[in-house]
Amino acid sequence: MKESLMDIICCPLDKQELELDATETDDEEVLAGTLTCTECGETYPIEDGIPNLLPPDMRDVEA
Ligand SMILES: [Zn+2]
Repeated sequence: MKESLMDIICCPLDKQELELDATETDDEEVLAGTLTCTECGETYPIEDGIPNLLPPDMRDVEA
């Protein structure tokens, strides 16, 4: 994901801002890291450059 995407995406639970903690970047692209909600503290993983903004209770569900 582009770092500029931070202006667009928000916490799916309360629509508050997310804080980016990038562990792996390539130029302006964030490949891996964590997004943390500034309001509720929920964390969302970024894997392979794709932010997973599903609420926690919707993750890990076998399709
Ligand atoms: Zn939140």
